This record gives sequence, structure tokens and C-alpha cells, in this order.
Amino acid sequence: MDSDSPLLTGPVARPVLDEIRSILGRRIIWCPLPAAVLKRFERRRQAEFAMIARLGWPLLLLMVVLVGGMGWWFFRAEIQAADLLLWWQGIGLELLVLAVAMATVQHPRVLPHYQGCIVVAGILNLGIALLGAIIIGSPRLAQVDSYVCMLIITIQVLALRLSLWASALCGLGALVFSVAGAAMVWGKQPDWSMLLWFSAGSLLVTLFVGAVLERLERISFLQGLLLEHESQERERLNRKLDRMAHQDALSGLANRRHFNVLLEREWERLRREERPLALLFIDVDYFKAYNDTYGHALGDECLMAIGRALANAVRRPGDVAARYGGEEFVVLLPGTGLEGAREVGERIIGEIDAFAIPHAASPVSGIVTVSVGLAVLVPQASLATADLLARADTALYAAKRAGRHQLVVSEETIALQASWP
Ligand code: GH3
Ligand code: MG
Ligand code: MG
Repeated sequence: MDSDSPLLTGPVARPVLDEIRSILGRRIIWCPLPAAVLKRFERRRQAEFAMIARLGWPLLLLMVVLVGGMGWWFFRAEIQAADLLLWWQGIGLELLVLAVAMATVQHPRVLPHYQGCIVVAGILNLGIALLGAIIIGSPRLAQVDSYVCMLIITIQVLALRLSLWASALCGLGALVFSVAGAAMVWGKQPDWSMLLWFSAGSLLVTLFVGAVLERLERISFLQGLLLEHESQERERLNRKLDRMAHQDALSGLANRRHFNVLLEREWERLRREERPLALLFIDVDYFKAYNDTYGHALGDECLMAIGRALANAVRRPGDVAARYGGEEFVVLLPGTGLEGAREVGERIIGEIDAFAIPHAASPVSGIVTVSVGLAVLVPQASLATADLLARADTALYAAKRAGRHQLVVSEETIALQASWP
């Protein structure tokens, strides 16, 4: 199970988030998990179990050996008097149970059922420990056993990520196993007061601590889901804000501010590379008359259509089409020379003509048309971006004066083009 599993992360539906907020807001004693995220919680526990199990098995084996060895060391006399062989058989069996659990639980098919495996292994291990104390009948050993119970349940709940219910089942199962086993096979009764006060008591205390911890874990899991959602939401809003800061709302093209940033960037890049930078200034002809005739709403629609035509016209990765303001647009073509830029400009005029948006008040034609001013230069230290804009603007007004619905190249561009690389 890797931590990138889609069940461990990913969006949570809004109603589930509301449910989570309400659960966390109520601050109830037991923290229930919404059904929609229960599986994720379990898979997360399972992933943690798989990770801990890989590291923890040798330590568990060592612990059984140590507990067995210490029991032998401190209670040698009692054990020898009762049944020495049985004691070592018990320790051997515990090691065997652990080894089998260790060998099988990591298997991908078994891993999803790790809780069941641990419950069975836990009942056997805990049960054998309790059984030993009943058979040997030493009150001192029964006391130590209660600590062992506590230890085993603590390891299961805290380290092996066993759910509280599985741990309770394991404790109860071990008590039944040991009492029934001792009665049926060896005909021995436990010291009931010892069993209840120490073993069962310590089980209850540990389970209570486990419950408190499980509640905290559930709360932190739910808070983690909310945090994850909020950070995704923040990221989405940031992206939206970013888009809004760069985009013109009406046309969907870059806005003037973003265009200015891109213009400066391309200017610097092409100055280093000593390559040309082309700028088309595009203005709708008699647009005031269009608004007066058809109204602002249709005027806006017309600007949107022009925005689409410009977006279509820019094809290379560095090309930029932007709304410069009102009914004026700009197209920046980095690394494009005069002929290439003229081609793009003519194509834009042609595409807008092809829309054939009726414009009865236009003296040029019965449809909406644009005029285009074109300037191209190779950026140099002695020039600034304002020079490129001014030249394209002058060319645009020359196009207007020349009768509109046409492209005019700036005079400086024509004069200088012979010297370009
Ligand atoms: P010319 O051919 O000389 O460019 O004439 P024109 O009427 O297009 O030029 P002018 O600059 O006089 O008018 C531009 C008009 O564009 C004025 C304004 O009503 C309109 N306009 C500017 N921004 C918008 C907009 O966002 N929506 C609409 N519908 N109209 C706009
Ligand atoms: Mg204008
Ligand atoms: Mg105009």
C-alpha cells in the first residue's frame, strides 16, 4: 500500500465536509467518522500498519524472547514446580504464532485483513500468557501477567494500528481462551479475584487509554481532511485570481497590464538575441457608430468575436494577443519579421471580414472592419518599448486616414528593414 493511493488523498464532497465540520463542532465524546471517509481512514491505518510492521517485527520477536526469559529468570521455582516443559512450549508457541503472522500479514492479499490476523495472533499470544499463569497458579506470576496484558494491548492499539473494537475483542478472546483452556484441558480454575483485578482490570485501563487516543486520532484525521480541502480551495482561488489579474474579462485575451509585462520580457529577450519584435495595433472602424446603432450589448458581443479572431491568429508559443483598451487590441509577435507580421495582420483583417458582422452605419463597408498599424524593430539599448508602441500607433492612424479597413506598416519599419539580420 503506497501513500499515494487515491483512497488516501483526493477531494471530499461538499456535504461530507459539512458533516465533518458539524462533527468537529459538536465536540462529542466519541468522534464518529462519516461513512464516505471511513474507508480512507482504514486504508490510512493499514498503510501505517504496513510501514510499522516492516520495522517492528524483529522488535516484537525480541520482546517475546525477553518476556519469556525474564519470566523464567524470576519465577524459575514456580515454573519448575508446575510444568517446565509446558512453559517452554508456551514460549515456543508464541514465537511460532508471531512468525506465522509476520510471514503472512505482509502479503497484499492478507494485508487488508490485518486486523483479523492480529486479533487471532493476539488471542493466542495473550491467551497463552494468561493460561500459563492459571496453570502455574502463582499469584506473583498472575500479577506480572497483567502487565504483559497491558503491554500487548498497548502494542496492538498504539503501534500496530488495531482498532479499539478489535483490541477489545482480542482481550476478551484471550481471557475466554485461557479460562476455558485451563478448565477443559488442565481442569484448573483461575484465581478469579486476581484475574478480574489485575488482568481484566489492566485490559480495561489500556482499552480506555486506547479509546482516548483513537478519538484524538479521528479528530486529527477529520481536521486533516478539512485542511487538505481548504488548501486545495485556496490554490484554486489563487489560480482564479491570477487568471483574473492577467485576463481581460470581455475578450478572454491578455489584459493591458499583462501585455505590458510580456512586452518588456520579450523586448529584453530579443535584444539579447538581436532578433525582430513585431507589434500589430488593431482598432475597430467606426465602433462608436456601431454602439450607437446596435447598442452596447451587441457592441460587447462584437468585441468578443474580435477577441476570438485574434486568439485564432496567434499560433506560435511566444505570440500574445491582448485587449489594449476599449475597441483597441494589440498582437505581439516575437521573432517575427515584417513579412510574417504583415501576413498575420492581413489574416486578422480577413477573419474579421469573414464574421460579416452587420454594421449599417459604417461608411467603409456594410460589415464590421478593423484597421491595423504594424511596426517591427530589433530591440536596442537606444530604444524603448514605448517606441514600438508609438510607431505601431502612428501606422494605425495612417491606416485610418488612408480610408480604414487596411494594414499600414510604420515608416521607420520600412526604412530600417534592410538592416535586419
Ligand atoms: P475609428 O474608426 O476612428 O476608430 O472610429 P471609432 O468610432 O471606432 O473610434 P472612437 O475612438 O471614436 O470610438 C471608440 C468607441 O468604442 C467608443 C466606445 O463607445 C466604444 N467602446 C470602447 N470600449 C467598449 C466596450 O467595452 N464595449 C462597447 N460596447 N463599446 C466600447
Ligand atoms: Mg479607438
Ligand atoms: Mg475605432
